[in-house]
Amino acid sequence: MTDTKIIIVTGASSGIGGAVAEQLAADGHHVIAAARRTDRLRDLADRVTGQGGSIETRELDVTDRAAVAGCVDAVVDAHGRLDAIVNNAGVMPLSRLDALLVDQWDQMIDVNVRGLLNGIAATLPHFQRQGAGHYVTVASIGAHQVVPTGAVYCASKYAAWAITEGLRIELDPSIRVTTISPGVVESELADTITDAGAVAAMRDYRAAAIPPAAIARAISYAIGEPAEVDVNEMIIRPARQR
Ligand code: NDP
Repeated sequence: MTDTKIIIVTGASSGIGGAVAEQLAADGHHVIAAARRTDRLRDLADRVTGQGGSIETRELDVTDRAAVAGCVDAVVDAHGRLDAIVNNAGVMPLSRLDALLVDQWDQMIDVNVRGLLNGIAATLPHFQRQGAGHYVTVASIGAHQVVPTGAVYCASKYAAWAITEGLRIELDPSIRVTTISPGVVESELADTITDAGAVAAMRDYRAAAIPPAAIARAISYAIGEPAEVDVNEMIIRPARQR
């Protein structure tokens, strides 16, 4: 019998976040699925409730610090606690640095780094007061290696890795910390790429993609371990991605 946890998943409207929400609900947890596209969240909620899962949806832009705090506080008010947050929202408009797509650099930093920090700032006081909590950061294989067209994206994911490691070494052990680094996974992530060279490179690169359920199972495992076990880091990539 699963001990039911209250878990926020950001970026739950597609791809990995959607699969994580479905998996955690199937595990018996109550999921708060957050993202900007409410129509997609509604579809997810219909699927989850149809399978007997427990879910609510929240419209949320993770770059809006006050909105993230408001969402987290509302969840704690409604449920009396928050057990985990999966900071998954991310964007990946890849390009070479000399393409100077500076607005897309800003977007990656805003969502992938500031969005993560906003999630941490909003939840940390609650986790500390509760004496329990779990941070799950969806980083990337790009947190471990830099590839052409990926300088800023990888920088944002190295930052996500470093911030999450910082939580691990600074916080009380009652708060668990997991970094998940996926390789190529089927999702809408590459749809934000506008640079023609990067789009072409992605076509071959993404051919080996694995389903987002593979990442969801890893997160389910990390969350399901007992409180004294902290699964700190996993890299999950397609076997064909060498
Ligand atoms: P998707 O594009 O399918 O999903 C990205 C999610 O992030 C969407 O739900 C989107 O929701 C959300 N999002 C984007 N911007 C914001 C924002 N400002 N506020 C709130 N939510 C936002 O891609 P993935 O599922 O692949 O991406 C999920 C995570 O996995 C990302 O962090 C990505 O970097 C990481 N990752 C993915 C890999 C892959 O190959 N797919 C590999 C390695 C890491 P909405 O637009 O509705 O707000």
